[in-house]
Amino acid sequence: MELHPPTTALEHHPLYIDGVWCDAADGATFTVTAPATGELMASVASASPADVDRAVAAARTAFDSGPWPHSSPAERARVLTDLTAMLEERAFALAEIDAREGGVPIRKTTYNDVTLAIEIFRTFAEIARRPPYEPLPWTDMPSVSWNFVWREPIGVCAQIIPWNYTVAMAAWKLAPALATGNTVVFKPSSLAPLTSIELVRMINESDLLPRGVVNLVNGPGASVGEYLVGHPGVDKIAFSGSTEVGRKVMVAAAQGLKKVTLELGGKSPALVLPDADLETITDGLLFGAFYHAGQLCEAGTRIFVHRSQHDELVERLVARTRQIRIGDPLDLETDMGPLISFAQREKVEAYIQLGQAEGARIVVGGGRPQGEQFERGPYIEPTIFVDVDNRSRLAQEEIFGPVLAIICYDDITDALRMANETLFGLAASVWTRDLQAGIAIAQRIRAGTVWINETLVLNPNAPFGGYKQSGIGREMGLYGIQEYTEAKHIHVDLMQKRQGRLWWDALLPE
Ligand code: NAD
Repeated sequence: MELHPPTTALEHHPLYIDGVWCDAADGATFTVTAPATGELMASVASASPADVDRAVAAARTAFDSGPWPHSSPAERARVLTDLTAMLEERAFALAEIDAREGGVPIRKTTYNDVTLAIEIFRTFAEIARRPPYEPLPWTDMPSVSWNFVWREPIGVCAQIIPWNYTVAMAAWKLAPALATGNTVVFKPSSLAPLTSIELVRMINESDLLPRGVVNLVNGPGASVGEYLVGHPGVDKIAFSGSTEVGRKVMVAAAQGLKKVTLELGGKSPALVLPDADLETITDGLLFGAFYHAGQLCEAGTRIFVHRSQHDELVERLVARTRQIRIGDPLDLETDMGPLISFAQREKVEAYIQLGQAEGARIVVGGGRPQGEQFERGPYIEPTIFVDVDNRSRLAQEEIFGPVLAIICYDDITDALRMANETLFGLAASVWTRDLQAGIAIAQRIRAGTVWINETLVLNPNAPFGGYKQSGIGREMGLYGIQEYTEAKHIHVDLMQKRQGRLWWDALLPE
């Protein structure tokens, strides 16, 4: 790969610990490269264990002795509302950084990712306003008392995100943690940390949060991430990433019996019911499979279609796939940019070869797009396989690239069984004219989100998370709030019969 050195000094991004931007204790750095061009974008401080220690200590102090965990719902709502407004002001700048560092088409980062990040902050500004108090019903116990649940922040949260969807992922982690009064040590992926750094810069400039509430450490997952999740000063881990790393995170969490939420990989099925209008649904199916070049945890990469509709659907999918414009992520006309890295392309190409070896047949794509503009980045063609066996590795493993498997079924029970025959259970979609049939299928799919006649659309009020090996716990909305709070039962005695009486009979009616 040819790298293009910058003409001016490379922009440098330090760590953010206890309200101060600082370099790593050992001076280590790494560089960030734009996948589409190989251009060096920035140098970033790479945290050492000593830096992680300082970040956790700062978050610990901000939690144990600072005002933030005890701030009122109105105060937290005001902070999140102000941050929402700042995000709106910086939306285009963030969308551009996200597009450059992730190779994500700028149309996606602008109209989806940053918009979603704004909506997440707005939603949690509203949720933060809810009182952390839930009255409990009376039970037939002898004492008369007033019982309620008081929801409290958990403590120091280690938050780790992957390189895809970065601006939305960062908002997805930070907004609920802040809405509930937690403090945070945040670690983005070192392949795409710049959007998160920009977001933290915005938080710092806002001067809305006490120091130590948000801390940012960057660096490799195998060192910085692993050290952070194993840190005894961390109370909760919120991790988004691969199932493989998620397992390691869970082991680390088990050692300290830390609270943990895991948002992991997927291999989402798209079930096309025999009554579906193929002309209407073709673009939706391709959107589900190829958006951000298939580098989405919830990508709908297995389409189940009835044998009677198979040939027509394949013909339509192939025709539309040929119209997908691959190119520069910064061009508003681009539908699909490069993959995140050359290593990722090698992995995807290995799956394309494997699919053929397993007996599946490519009907479109399978190679690299030709032309000078594609030479500097890890571009790959959107690829569709037919004659796929649902038990093959092509259909079972998360490829994280634009590779779509079409699988035939003869009856819907069979389709449902195959859709559920996977280690994953993050999302699914159902395509039909009969909404009741669609809902009935949705109820039987083992996945955390099921779209009917739509796909990939995320609602910050809705719980998001996986069944099976797609994760543990739910993020977003009121369900997400539960994962960032402890529920404390408070019992207030209303009869004052205890004095001078040691035992239980003090509470009995006289
Ligand atoms: P990854 O698991 O390799 O890395 C994710 C993050 O974990 C990165 O910040 C990385 O530095 C860090 N990390 C790596 N090893 C670690 C360790 N031992 N301990 C702690 N942290 C460690 O994933 P990726 O390649 O960055 O992203 C792609 C994956 O993320 C896909 O599997 C995708 O499905 C998944 N993903 C899931 C969701 C979701 O909400 N379910 C969202 C986006 C991406």
